[in-house]
Amino acid sequence: MRSLAVGLCIAFLTAVGAAARPAPDLLVENPPELDAVADQVRAIGRGDFSGALMMTGLMGFSSPMRVVVASEESTAAQETPKWVSGFASGESRTIVLFPERVSRYPDDSLRTLVHHEVAHVLVAEAARGRPVPRWFNEGVATVAAREWGIEDRARYAAAVVGRGPRTVDALDQGFADGGRRAIRSYALAGAFIRWLRAEYGVHVTGSILEQLGREMAFREAFVRATGDTLERAEYRFFVREALWHTWVPFVTSSGVLWAAITILAIVAIRRRQTRSAAMRERWEEEERELVRDRPERPLDFNRTRSLDEVDDDVVN
Ligand SMILES: [Zn+2]
Repeated sequence: MRSLAVGLCIAFLTAVGAAARPAPDLLVENPPELDAVADQVRAIGRGDFSGALMMTGLMGFSSPMRVVVASEESTAAQETPKWVSGFASGESRTIVLFPERVSRYPDDSLRTLVHHEVAHVLVAEAARGRPVPRWFNEGVATVAAREWGIEDRARYAAAVVGRGPRTVDALDQGFADGGRRAIRSYALAGAFIRWLRAEYGVHVTGSILEQLGREMAFREAFVRATGDTLERAEYRFFVREALWHTWVPFVTSSGVLWAAITILAIVAIRRRQTRSAAMRERWEEEERELVRDRPERPLDFNRTRSLDEVDDDVVN
């Protein structure tokens, strides 16, 4: 009986091990001229994908993924907008990469691009093929693929300071518009996903996907995983966080403080110059009147000297 239990246990662990591998099994296809790139893709596939697994709530990789490394001469490349460096189909577990376009944010290296597209396949798997909002899908893939760096911070700040998107629907519109608007949406979707993880815990995205997989609507799944409505989270991130993380540190930074002091000093100097000039004019007018009225009386040298002192004060 005991040996049966041990046997079942070993069989279960073997089944889990076989079903959940820590690295993806990438079946790479490529034209001969891209052999070297294909080798790089295989090497990247042997890397660490724990970030993407954790974000999607999956225990490991269940089945192989097909990766097509396409040249710019391929039909796929010619039918895809130039700003797109790769795409993934969750349903067919297929990834298409355009390595000659790898220089665009957020996938500015082949490694980032592969991790990004693999994450998309995992998102689809975790949601069991149910529709996933574009902003959520791209945000998860972006965060899974790249470290938050100076460029992300700068793009985030630039996006929230201007009249940029303030809702997830606006982010989705940015992705639909393509080009620079899509790139801005990548930066903001990534920042929003990071914020959700900081606010509600690192498993929040996996929990949402799990609920989606159970046929729950996205907004309901969001409430279930966070305890907040999506609208409230949007307001907190796009309005309040944007203010605190961009304008407030900027306004209170020492550089800006010194710039403000310098401007105040210049304003004070200018006002003083104007006042001195008005005073000088008034005094000169008074002196002219004195000379006119009493030509025999000498000028008041003490007063003249005090004018010189005002001038010296402004210049120094
Ligand atoms: Zn993507």
